[in-house]
Amino acid sequence: MAKIRLFIETQLHSEARIPLSRDHAHYLFNVMRLEVGARVLVFNGTGGEWCAYVAEAGRKSGALHIAVQTRSQADPPDIDLMFAPVKKARTDFIVEKACELGCRTLQPVFTHNTNSLRLNLDRLRAHMIEAAEQCGGLYVPVLKPPLKLHEVLRSWQGRALVFCNEMRDSPPITKAVSSLAAGTPVSVLIGPEGGFSPDEIAAIKAVDGALPVSLGPRILRADTAAVAALTVVQAQSGDW
Ligand code: SAH
Repeated sequence: MAKIRLFIETQLHSEARIPLSRDHAHYLFNVMRLEVGARVLVFNGTGGEWCAYVAEAGRKSGALHIAVQTRSQADPPDIDLMFAPVKKARTDFIVEKACELGCRTLQPVFTHNTNSLRLNLDRLRAHMIEAAEQCGGLYVPVLKPPLKLHEVLRSWQGRALVFCNEMRDSPPITKAVSSLAAGTPVSVLIGPEGGFSPDEIAAIKAVDGALPVSLGPRILRADTAAVAALTVVQAQSGDW
Protein backbone atom coordinates (compact mmCIF):
# COMPACT_ATOMS: atom_id res chain seq x y z
CA MET A 1 0.00 0.00 0.00
CA ALA A 2 1.31 3.45 -0.86
CA LYS A 3 2.88 4.95 2.25
CA ILE A 4 0.57 7.66 3.46
CA ARG A 5 2.51 10.58 4.91
CA LEU A 6 0.81 13.37 6.80
CA PHE A 7 2.22 16.75 7.81
CA ILE A 8 0.76 17.55 11.23
CA GLU A 9 1.97 20.64 13.10
CA THR A 10 2.06 19.24 16.61
CA GLN A 11 4.55 17.76 19.04
CA LEU A 12 5.38 14.17 18.07
CA HIS A 13 6.66 11.60 20.57
CA SER A 14 6.17 7.90 21.32
CA GLU A 15 2.80 6.96 22.75
CA ALA A 16 1.34 10.36 21.89
CA ARG A 17 -2.30 10.37 20.83
CA ILE A 18 -2.86 12.94 18.07
CA PRO A 19 -6.38 14.12 17.26
CA LEU A 20 -6.96 14.40 13.51
CA SER A 21 -8.28 17.53 11.81
CA ARG A 22 -11.50 17.22 9.87
CA ASP A 23 -9.57 17.38 6.60
CA HIS A 24 -7.13 14.68 7.65
CA ALA A 25 -9.99 12.49 8.92
CA HIS A 26 -11.81 12.93 5.63
CA TYR A 27 -8.69 12.07 3.65
CA LEU A 28 -7.73 9.01 5.72
CA PHE A 29 -11.14 7.51 6.32
CA ASN A 30 -13.37 8.61 3.44
CA VAL A 31 -10.84 8.94 0.63
CA MET A 32 -8.17 6.38 1.56
CA ARG A 33 -10.69 4.24 3.48
CA LEU A 34 -8.26 3.42 6.27
CA GLU A 35 -9.49 1.60 9.35
CA VAL A 36 -8.36 1.44 12.96
CA GLY A 37 -4.92 -0.13 13.13
CA ALA A 38 -3.79 1.15 9.71
CA ARG A 39 -0.24 2.50 9.60
CA VAL A 40 0.65 6.02 8.44
CA LEU A 41 3.78 8.16 8.56
CA VAL A 42 3.64 11.56 10.26
CA PHE A 43 6.06 14.50 10.27
CA ASN A 44 5.83 18.03 11.66
CA GLY A 45 8.69 19.75 9.84
CA THR A 46 11.07 19.86 12.78
CA GLY A 47 10.98 16.51 14.62
CA GLY A 48 11.71 13.93 11.94
CA GLU A 49 9.23 11.29 10.76
CA TRP A 50 7.20 8.97 12.97
CA CYS A 51 5.28 5.76 12.40
CA ALA A 52 1.70 6.05 13.63
CA TYR A 53 -1.42 3.89 13.75
CA VAL A 54 -5.06 4.87 13.38
CA ALA A 55 -6.46 4.74 16.92
CA GLU A 56 -9.90 6.12 16.12
CA ALA A 57 -11.63 6.48 12.72
CA GLY A 58 -14.72 8.60 12.18
CA ARG A 59 -16.27 10.41 9.21
CA LYS A 60 -15.19 13.80 10.43
CA SER A 61 -12.76 13.03 13.20
CA GLY A 62 -10.27 10.48 14.43
CA ALA A 63 -6.97 10.04 16.23
CA LEU A 64 -3.52 8.59 15.62
CA HIS A 65 -1.36 6.73 18.08
CA ILE A 66 2.30 7.73 17.55
CA ALA A 67 4.60 4.70 17.80
CA VAL A 68 8.26 5.21 16.92
CA GLN A 69 10.45 7.67 15.03
CA THR A 70 11.33 6.30 11.60
CA ARG A 71 13.65 9.10 10.43
CA SER A 72 15.48 11.87 12.24
CA GLN A 73 15.02 15.47 11.11
CA ALA A 74 16.93 16.61 8.04
CA ASP A 75 16.64 20.19 6.84
CA PRO A 76 17.42 21.21 3.27
CA PRO A 77 20.56 23.28 2.68
CA ASP A 78 20.34 27.03 3.21
CA ILE A 79 18.97 27.80 -0.25
CA ASP A 80 16.35 30.54 -0.69
CA LEU A 81 14.28 31.00 -3.81
CA MET A 82 13.27 34.59 -4.49
CA PHE A 83 10.81 34.81 -7.34
CA ALA A 84 8.50 37.31 -8.92
CA PRO A 85 5.00 35.83 -8.93
CA VAL A 86 3.71 34.87 -12.36
CA LYS A 87 0.35 33.43 -13.46
CA LYS A 88 -1.34 31.38 -10.73
CA ALA A 89 -0.78 27.90 -12.16
CA ARG A 90 2.88 28.62 -12.86
CA THR A 91 3.41 30.14 -9.41
CA ASP A 92 1.84 27.00 -7.92
CA PHE A 93 4.34 25.00 -9.99
CA ILE A 94 7.28 27.12 -8.76
CA VAL A 95 6.48 26.67 -5.08
CA GLU A 96 5.80 22.96 -5.48
CA LYS A 97 9.09 22.36 -7.35
CA ALA A 98 11.06 24.50 -4.90
CA CYS A 99 9.78 22.22 -2.15
CA GLU A 100 10.63 19.00 -4.01
CA LEU A 101 14.06 20.27 -5.10
CA GLY A 102 14.95 21.26 -1.53
CA CYS A 103 14.63 24.96 -0.66
CA ARG A 104 14.64 26.32 2.85
CA THR A 105 12.77 29.57 2.22
CA LEU A 106 10.63 31.05 -0.52
CA GLN A 107 10.52 34.83 -0.83
CA PRO A 108 8.07 36.25 -3.39
CA VAL A 109 9.39 39.59 -4.69
CA PHE A 110 7.36 42.25 -6.48
CA THR A 111 9.33 43.79 -9.35
CA HIS A 112 8.48 46.55 -11.83
CA ASN A 113 7.07 44.06 -14.38
CA THR A 114 5.37 41.70 -11.92
CA ASN A 115 1.84 41.29 -13.20
CA SER A 116 0.19 39.38 -10.37
CA LEU A 117 0.41 41.34 -7.13
CA ARG A 118 -2.18 39.15 -5.44
CA LEU A 119 -0.76 36.01 -3.82
CA ASN A 120 -2.78 33.52 -1.81
CA LEU A 121 -0.09 32.45 0.65
CA ASP A 122 -2.35 29.89 2.36
CA ARG A 123 -3.06 28.18 -0.92
CA LEU A 124 0.62 28.18 -1.87
CA ARG A 125 1.56 26.79 1.53
CA ALA A 126 -0.99 23.99 1.10
CA HIS A 127 0.73 23.10 -2.20
CA MET A 128 4.10 22.95 -0.44
CA ILE A 129 2.76 20.72 2.33
CA GLU A 130 1.31 18.37 -0.28
CA ALA A 131 4.67 18.35 -2.11
CA ALA A 132 6.54 17.59 1.11
CA GLU A 133 4.13 14.75 1.95
CA GLN A 134 4.49 13.29 -1.55
CA CYS A 135 8.28 13.65 -1.95
CA GLY A 136 9.22 12.20 1.41
CA GLY A 137 10.42 15.56 2.66
CA LEU A 138 10.74 16.24 6.37
CA TYR A 139 10.65 20.00 6.01
CA VAL A 140 8.15 22.48 4.59
CA PRO A 141 9.90 25.59 3.27
CA VAL A 142 9.03 28.89 4.91
CA LEU A 143 6.90 30.96 2.52
CA LYS A 144 7.56 34.58 3.43
CA PRO A 145 5.15 37.46 2.80
CA PRO A 146 5.98 39.24 -0.49
CA LEU A 147 8.46 42.12 -0.46
CA LYS A 148 9.31 44.70 -3.11
CA LEU A 149 12.59 43.94 -4.88
CA HIS A 150 14.19 47.19 -3.76
CA GLU A 151 13.30 46.38 -0.14
CA VAL A 152 15.09 43.02 -0.49
CA LEU A 153 18.16 44.60 -2.09
CA ARG A 154 18.32 47.47 0.39
CA SER A 155 18.71 45.07 3.32
CA TRP A 156 21.06 42.63 1.56
CA GLN A 157 23.78 41.43 3.90
CA GLY A 158 26.24 39.88 1.45
CA ARG A 159 24.68 36.41 1.05
CA ALA A 160 25.42 34.80 -2.34
CA LEU A 161 22.71 36.01 -4.72
CA VAL A 162 22.48 33.87 -7.87
CA PHE A 163 20.80 36.42 -10.12
CA CYS A 164 19.25 34.70 -13.16
CA ASN A 165 19.73 37.41 -15.75
CA GLU A 166 17.75 36.87 -18.93
CA MET A 167 19.99 39.29 -20.81
CA ARG A 168 22.25 36.25 -21.02
CA ASP A 169 25.39 38.40 -20.91
CA SER A 170 26.42 36.80 -17.60
CA PRO A 171 28.63 33.76 -16.95
CA PRO A 172 27.01 30.31 -17.17
CA ILE A 173 25.39 29.36 -13.86
CA THR A 174 27.51 26.20 -13.48
CA LYS A 175 30.70 28.28 -13.62
CA ALA A 176 29.38 30.93 -11.22
CA VAL A 177 28.05 28.40 -8.69
CA SER A 178 31.19 26.23 -8.81
CA SER A 179 33.04 29.22 -7.31
CA LEU A 180 30.92 28.85 -4.14
CA ALA A 181 32.15 26.56 -1.36
CA ALA A 182 29.77 23.63 -0.91
CA GLY A 183 27.05 24.48 1.57
CA THR A 184 27.39 28.26 1.14
CA PRO A 185 24.06 29.92 1.92
CA VAL A 186 22.60 30.88 -1.45
CA SER A 187 19.62 32.86 -2.69
CA VAL A 188 18.36 32.36 -6.25
CA LEU A 189 16.50 35.25 -7.91
CA ILE A 190 14.06 34.71 -10.78
CA GLY A 191 12.21 37.54 -12.48
CA PRO A 192 8.66 37.90 -13.83
CA GLU A 193 7.31 37.08 -17.29
CA GLY A 194 8.21 40.60 -18.38
CA GLY A 195 11.79 40.24 -17.13
CA PHE A 196 13.74 42.69 -14.99
CA SER A 197 13.93 46.38 -15.88
CA PRO A 198 17.37 47.83 -16.75
CA ASP A 199 17.39 49.74 -13.45
CA GLU A 200 16.58 46.56 -11.55
CA ILE A 201 19.37 44.67 -13.30
CA ALA A 202 21.86 47.40 -12.35
CA ALA A 203 20.58 47.49 -8.74
CA ILE A 204 20.77 43.69 -8.37
CA LYS A 205 24.31 43.55 -9.82
CA ALA A 206 25.37 46.24 -7.35
CA VAL A 207 24.62 44.29 -4.17
CA ASP A 208 27.43 42.60 -2.26
CA GLY A 209 27.30 38.87 -3.09
CA ALA A 210 25.53 39.24 -6.46
CA LEU A 211 26.36 36.49 -8.96
CA PRO A 212 24.66 37.32 -12.28
CA VAL A 213 24.26 34.06 -14.22
CA SER A 214 23.00 32.84 -17.56
CA LEU A 215 20.74 29.77 -17.87
CA GLY A 216 21.74 29.17 -21.49
CA PRO A 217 21.02 30.85 -24.82
CA ARG A 218 17.21 30.46 -24.74
CA ILE A 219 14.69 32.51 -22.79
CA LEU A 220 13.13 30.20 -20.20
CA ARG A 221 9.73 30.75 -18.64
CA ALA A 222 10.06 31.82 -14.99
CA ASP A 223 8.92 28.42 -13.76
CA THR A 224 11.41 26.62 -16.01
CA ALA A 225 14.17 29.00 -14.89
CA ALA A 226 13.38 28.39 -11.21
CA VAL A 227 13.71 24.63 -11.63
CA ALA A 228 16.83 24.90 -13.79
CA ALA A 229 18.63 27.28 -11.40
CA LEU A 230 17.69 25.35 -8.26
CA THR A 231 18.84 22.12 -9.89
CA VAL A 232 22.32 23.48 -10.60
CA VAL A 233 22.66 25.07 -7.15
CA GLN A 234 21.47 21.93 -5.37
CA ALA A 235 23.58 19.57 -7.48
CA GLN A 236 26.72 21.68 -7.11
CA SER A 237 26.49 22.85 -3.52
CA GLY A 238 23.34 21.45 -1.97
CA ASP A 239 22.26 18.08 -0.60
CA TRP A 240 21.98 16.06 -3.79
N1 SAH B 1 10.21 38.38 -21.07
C1 SAH B 1 11.65 38.44 -20.78
C2 SAH B 1 12.14 37.13 -20.15
C3 SAH B 1 11.65 36.87 -18.75
S1 SAH B 1 11.89 35.17 -18.35
C4 SAH B 1 12.43 38.62 -22.06
O1 SAH B 1 11.90 38.25 -23.12
O2 SAH B 1 13.58 39.04 -21.95
C5 SAH B 1 11.56 35.14 -16.62
C6 SAH B 1 12.81 35.04 -15.74
O3 SAH B 1 13.45 33.78 -15.96
C7 SAH B 1 13.87 36.06 -16.04
O4 SAH B 1 13.62 37.28 -15.38
C8 SAH B 1 15.12 35.38 -15.50
O5 SAH B 1 15.21 35.51 -14.09
C9 SAH B 1 14.87 33.94 -15.85
N2 SAH B 1 15.47 33.53 -17.12
C10 SAH B 1 14.83 33.10 -18.22
N3 SAH B 1 15.68 32.74 -19.18
C11 SAH B 1 16.94 32.94 -18.68
C12 SAH B 1 18.25 32.73 -19.18
N4 SAH B 1 18.48 32.21 -20.40
N5 SAH B 1 19.31 33.05 -18.40
C13 SAH B 1 19.11 33.55 -17.15
N6 SAH B 1 17.88 33.75 -16.60
C14 SAH B 1 16.80 33.45 -17.37
